[in-house]
Amino acid sequence: MTPAPAAGADRTIIIGAGQAGLQVAVELRQAGYAGAVTLVGDEAAQPYHRPPLSKAYLTSEKSLDALQMRGQAFYSEQAITFLPGLAATGIDRAARQVILADGTVLPYDHLVLATGAAARPLSCPGHDLDGVMTLRSLDDATALKARLATARHLVVVGGGFIGLEAAASARKLGVAVSVLEMQDRLMARAVGPDVSQHFAAVHRDHGVDLRLGQGIAEVLGDSPGEARRAIAVRTTAGDTIPADLVLAGIGVTPNTALALSTGLPISNGIVVDEAQRTGDSHIHALGDVCAFPAPHGAGLIRLESVQNAVDQAKVVAAGIIGRPARYQSVPWFWSDQYDLKLQMVGLSQGHDAVIERGSRDENRFSVFYMKAGRLIAIDSINRPADHMRGRKLLAHGAAPVGADEIDTLFAARRD
Ligand code: FAD
Ligand code: NDP
Repeated sequence: MTPAPAAGADRTIIIGAGQAGLQVAVELRQAGYAGAVTLVGDEAAQPYHRPPLSKAYLTSEKSLDALQMRGQAFYSEQAITFLPGLAATGIDRAARQVILADGTVLPYDHLVLATGAAARPLSCPGHDLDGVMTLRSLDDATALKARLATARHLVVVGGGFIGLEAAASARKLGVAVSVLEMQDRLMARAVGPDVSQHFAAVHRDHGVDLRLGQGIAEVLGDSPGEARRAIAVRTTAGDTIPADLVLAGIGVTPNTALALSTGLPISNGIVVDEAQRTGDSHIHALGDVCAFPAPHGAGLIRLESVQNAVDQAKVVAAGIIGRPARYQSVPWFWSDQYDLKLQMVGLSQGHDAVIERGSRDENRFSVFYMKAGRLIAIDSINRPADHMRGRKLLAHGAAPVGADEIDTLFAARRD
């Protein structure tokens, strides 16, 4: 059984020891919070950075040690009780208690739900064959890395960030790669069509067999038996592609079961207000698992990014220490594929005009998304200065920047 925090002190329990959960603990201590902080994580590992899992960790350019967010000593130095390998299985809101998988009952004054999201698995026939994988956790990445060492042909299902970053890493390792994407363009959720088109060309230049408008119909296995292995996939277009490894990168599902079981409002995520508060004044939620009010009253959105988790943690900590803040950060993301650094700032959905500057041939260009004559988002490829300038300009929403000012503000700058 794990020890309960000392009686008498203000007690904060954080469920989920990922990017968001750990950051709340860090922010609380930085803000001088003197209460007990308990971080409950169902993974065995110490909190680690997920972004390298599809990039430098997969290609062995980054070691396991380099993934750790904080050193071993951090938790004791900061008086953070970290409980690894232990899931929270229940919440009693009336009694303000969390129940852990080993039966421990922890009382709280403040509860933080940072349970993240889970990779969506394939559901087609053959989805359970040996060699069919997803990529979300360190364990997933370690298993995938081991398979890539001997794999001959990887089929990636889904042309989003996971799929494309893993495809680029696999090509670096010399593995043949096919990518199936249901939509007619790549990363459609995150970038505009011009950027999708450029990345499609770059992946094809690197030898990826890219099939747009196609999904997976079936994973085919070797001879029937107990431990059948994947040997090929059949696509929705009826093609058969050899595959000893199949990676599903078809999106995530927010881990809302715990919140749902205790009656908190859910709408594609745990519903929070602009201060990250759930319907219960003692419970905050943040990161991949929460659905929060979009800027300018455009409903609820859920974002899946490091920036979102880190910035929302500041707001949660502020609320716990009694200085409520509002989440107003401009979203930004990045993705590394081959020698392309893609950086995105703002949300380009709803744009009515685009302006492109730079050189596609040199792999250095930015696409500026405009709505009603104002700049709302920028996708930059290998132009970090455009991205940084955009973050400053868009810090409070759409920037009053017209098409005629783009050249003055951005394109003349050199990175
Ligand atoms: P998570 O990091 O998923 O952490 C949630 C934690 O809670 C997990 O450890 C989970 O196991 C645990 N948990 C869940 N339920 C319970 C429970 N009941 N009890 C205890 N613990 C529980 N974002 C970027 O911005 N840039 C990138 O380049 C990038 N690359 C990525 C690459 C990969 C391979 C992946 C998987 C993600 C990447 N992301 C990237 C996304 C980014 O990592 C996530 O947005 C971020 O991790 C979200 O943080 P989170 O804490 O909300 O969720
Ligand atoms: P995404 O939702 O970004 O992309 C999944 C893609 O797969 C979508 O284009 C989707 O199309 C497509 N798809 C869905 N089902 C099928 C199917 N059956 N056959 C073919 N294509 C299909 O999720 P990912 O899995 O790429 O990423 C998972 C998580 O990891 C996200 O939270 C992401 O933000 C995060 N991540 C972020 C990175 C970054 O920021 N650089 C890097 C790596 C991961 P449709 O939209 O039509 O369903």
